[in-house]
Amino acid sequence: GPHIGILAVQGDVREHVRALEECGAEPTRVRRPSELDDIEGIVIPGGESTTMDKLVRAFELFDPLRKLLAEGLPAYGSCAGMIMLADRIADGRPDQQTLGGLDVTVRRNAFGRQVDSFEDDLHIAGIDGTVRGVFIRAPWVEQVGPAVEVIGRVEHDAAAGRIVAVRQGSLLATSFHPEVTGDHRVHEMFVEIVRNRS
Ligand code: GLN
Repeated sequence: GPHIGILAVQGDVREHVRALEECGAEPTRVRRPSELDDIEGIVIPGGESTTMDKLVRAFELFDPLRKLLAEGLPAYGSCAGMIMLADRIADGRPDQQTLGGLDVTVRRNAFGRQVDSFEDDLHIAGIDGTVRGVFIRAPWVEQVGPAVEVIGRVEHDAAAGRIVAVRQGSLLATSFHPEVTGDHRVHEMFVEIVRNRS
């Protein structure tokens, strides 16, 4: 299967490793620049984007990863990973940087304190039936550029209509955490993207 890196400086790396293995990919943890050498795609896990941003720079992965993404390396970001892939953050810390690539504006911790964590059944374009969306202090996508395809929105309650899954070419991002549910169809979608590009 395709060699897919998982940015492993912080966050729920192990869950993504397992999901990718179960999709027939060959995942490898990325902590140093040389580990970027022969990957065909990268997953950026959930976690804490401000910490991830600092560590990515401390591990000297920021510039090489930014460059690879700009050159078209396929990437999937979940939650904090979505924030890392976004070109713009609505309310980031003043010094928070992102790897970028995805022409979107995200809002961190967007669903508010009252609903820190919640779940919803989502329809994701390209996947049959529904996908259980597990949201943990999740961002939403507030604005999308013309090349971005909205593939999923919250369907119930106060946040109904909010964008929580997007695709732009070989970049995929979700506000939620499919890696914790045992349903690997979002990862399969990403592995397919990598396969079609290699
Ligand atoms: N709130 C976190 C952030 O801003 C994301 C949370 C998550 O990845 N579960 O980075």
